[in-house]
Amino acid sequence: MELSGVGVGRGVAVGPILRMPDPLPEPVDSPRDDDAASEVATVEAALATVATELNERGSKAGGAARDVLEAAALMAQDPTLVDDVKARIEGGKTGERAVFEAFAAFQDILIGMGGLMAERATDLGDVSQRIIAQLRGVAAPGVPVSDEPFILVAPDLAPADTALLDLDRVLGLITRDGGPTSHTAILARSKSIPAIVGVIGALDLTDGTIVIADAAAGTILVDPSDDELAAARQRIADRAAAASAPLTDGVLADGTKIPLLANLGSPKDAAAAVALGAEGVGLFRTEFLFLDSKTAPTVEDQRAQYTELLGHFAGKKVVVRALDAGADKPLAFLNDAHEENPALGLRGLRALRASEQILRDQLTALALSDAESDADLWVMAPMVSDSEETEYFVSLGRELGLKTVGVMAEVPSLAVLADQVLEVADFVSIGTNDLTQYTLAADRMLGSVAHFQDPWHPAVLRLVKLIGDAGRASGKSVGICGEAAADPQLAVVLVGLGATTLSMTPAALADVRAELALHTLDEARQLAARALNARTAAEARTAGTVIS
Ligand code: PEP
Ligand code: MG
Repeated sequence: MELSGVGVGRGVAVGPILRMPDPLPEPVDSPRDDDAASEVATVEAALATVATELNERGSKAGGAARDVLEAAALMAQDPTLVDDVKARIEGGKTGERAVFEAFAAFQDILIGMGGLMAERATDLGDVSQRIIAQLRGVAAPGVPVSDEPFILVAPDLAPADTALLDLDRVLGLITRDGGPTSHTAILARSKSIPAIVGVIGALDLTDGTIVIADAAAGTILVDPSDDELAAARQRIADRAAAASAPLTDGVLADGTKIPLLANLGSPKDAAAAVALGAEGVGLFRTEFLFLDSKTAPTVEDQRAQYTELLGHFAGKKVVVRALDAGADKPLAFLNDAHEENPALGLRGLRALRASEQILRDQLTALALSDAESDADLWVMAPMVSDSEETEYFVSLGRELGLKTVGVMAEVPSLAVLADQVLEVADFVSIGTNDLTQYTLAADRMLGSVAHFQDPWHPAVLRLVKLIGDAGRASGKSVGICGEAAADPQLAVVLVGLGATTLSMTPAALADVRAELALHTLDEARQLAARALNARTAAEARTAGTVIS
């Protein structure tokens, strides 16, 4: 049997699948059968089991994960919390309900304290879910724990789940929901985890089934033959060997330089990007630093992070994006109103403009870090629609001391008006993920429309060309920082359409570097012209890949 979906990256994974357990429903507040003393004893045993499990996982994981897990184990045995649980049981609640209520009350207190304490509230929620699962005798929610490597199957993953994936255990990722540019997919690609998203039938796979997940083909082969397994394992070995090719700067066959930059979400990932040959940073997603923050970060908090980032790139370009909050990356301190269609709502620059002090603080922190570093800092705004918004952001950036200020091209209106925008902005960087989502009106989170999320679509390519032409006419830089830049063949076409730099997850640099070296700028332009005239994404991919 074969299932299909949309592949993320070009990797292959072979192994048994393990399903992510379903989230637990809230325990009902029903009368208790047992006497209080035996209910308390059951809960105490569950607390002890969960604390032991967390400690054991911590010592196996080591490093930062150990600290997190040990802190969680302590929460499960916190005397104030345990007393509160007991009091609630004695007051008539069931053990599950008492745990749920006591932990929720404590979470509220932490959230009220703000800052670092508020960030611990999520961990407390996780511990409470584990205890309730233990009491019910079901698997704990969240990424499953296994001693054997496995391919994780889930409806979708929250960014926090993906960030915590244990790379020694999780060989691949299969999700029912999500498109190729959902943030789950982006994080998977950045960790070089082969992923296939938008797979109908994914959740029908049973634990332990052996599959070959082929991200390049977007297929999942269930119960493969020995020959198929051997061929897949050979591909995995070949890719590992190709990844160790020499690190050179990005250059076309005719010597045209196309700097290859990294997309990063934390200063912690900078050293690995440099090791993979990143010539700088083309997109630093600052919102990833603050996904769990309940309150806006201070100038000093931010300055420390940005200074750490810039420290890795002396003499190199680093493009930092202002907070892109909203849609699938809500930040509690910026997006507090419910919206029916958040991707079309107060997202990116729109949200920042509505809370201007947060934007001012961020730009101030960036200017301070720039002043104390030797990197070449560029700053850009997400989700910008036209030259009026561009003017607003560029003048605020300059007022606060930034020297190179630009915008992202993610909304089709900005592409159409690129000539006007480039009269004001120092540069444009094209976010092909959102540009594709908004051009084709296809939610990037939605598996059912994942096939629309294809940046090869000629409508997207024509918009990229408008921006490329405006860039060439104004002599300003046009970068690509969406996932499209990580597709080697598409990267060549994007250069042919006028992109002057390409930024991607560092894991993709080797493949793109190798492909660029095979084509001259002239060839790239011919391939681009052919792709532009195609009628569908599939036709454009064929037309833009082969020179006849
Ligand atoms: C994009 O939209 O292409 C982009 C790079 O931004 P993000 O994926 O973070 O929305
Ligand atoms: Mg975007």
